[in-house]
Amino acid sequence: PQLINQIAAGEVVERPASVVKELLENSLDAGAGQIRVDVEQGGMRRIRVRDDGRGIPRDELALALRRHATSKIADLADLERVASLGFRGEALPSIASVSRLTLTSAVAGAHSGWTLRGDGGDRFEDPEPAPHPVGTTVDVRDLFYNVPARRKFLRTERTEYGHLEEVIRRIALSRPGLGLELVHNGRSGLRLPPATEAAARDQRVARICGEPFIQQSVFLEQEGAGLRLWGWMGLPTFSRSQPDLQYFGVNGRMVRDRLVTHAVRQAYRDVLQHGRHPAYVLFLELDPALVDVNAHPAKHEVRFRDARLVHDFLFRSLHRALAELRP
Ligand code: ADP
Ligand code: MG
Repeated sequence: PQLINQIAAGEVVERPASVVKELLENSLDAGAGQIRVDVEQGGMRRIRVRDDGRGIPRDELALALRRHATSKIADLADLERVASLGFRGEALPSIASVSRLTLTSAVAGAHSGWTLRGDGGDRFEDPEPAPHPVGTTVDVRDLFYNVPARRKFLRTERTEYGHLEEVIRRIALSRPGLGLELVHNGRSGLRLPPATEAAARDQRVARICGEPFIQQSVFLEQEGAGLRLWGWMGLPTFSRSQPDLQYFGVNGRMVRDRLVTHAVRQAYRDVLQHGRHPAYVLFLELDPALVDVNAHPAKHEVRFRDARLVHDFLFRSLHRALAELRP
């Protein structure tokens, strides 16, 4: 099993940033409202994610580290209903097979928390009692210590931390109500309180994308045919200075999608004669049955059931919102 896990890890775990992404998605699936991420050496030496989610009962700790044991997909039809971020039951076993991982957790009503060390395979010691508030801490040390070939592809601390920060930014943007803290080598990197009201949301986006973006963008909210689009569209003045600010979330998950890029660019070009590098932070919400999130192992891509419908909705919503701006 250790080898199978390591092969699976090849798909899911590329670098510290991918570990952080998987751990944060698990925390979100567990209903966390507050997450703290501590990393050392760009995450290469250590990544520790602590959340206040519902926790894992003692007897399920080993299951969580066992491949596919937790898969939520009972049959193919289930794929169409996947609303949570995780669904393969692959991330923790994969990460555990290429690092030194400990899982510590406590559930409400239990007398104690419990901790379990992953060994990369399917055999585990019994969990040991460990004090822990309700929630879960996953501690991942020495990523790729046992896979020199993968370790070789890691970059400098700075580069790895940059990727990791970007993962945090994307999740922070897609979940305004989540409190998020990032600490690097003991120094506070990012500290974002939950933002529920509009003003706080603006402030949060300003913290993540910079003040100029909020000042030179407009907020949009459009609904129709069961789809909802909301977020910030950068004005041409902004995007000329920072071409790469493009975030698009689908049902709470950030994606890169050509259909989306195309629709957005077309609307900008049509209305503002500026379609090359629009800047935006946008979120699309629709019935989970209308998107397939299983298109890519790292889950950056989505496949829309009705591509035409989505494309037209995006184009028309943005077109309308941008047209109102035109002097
Ligand atoms: P998946 O997310 O695809 O189910 P993972 O390997 O990422 O698979 O996680 C395995 C399981 O461990 C999850 O399904 C969940 O039951 C449990 N788990 C992992 N992380 C957490 C967490 N932070 N809080 C509560 N449960 C967790
Ligand atoms: Mg997961």
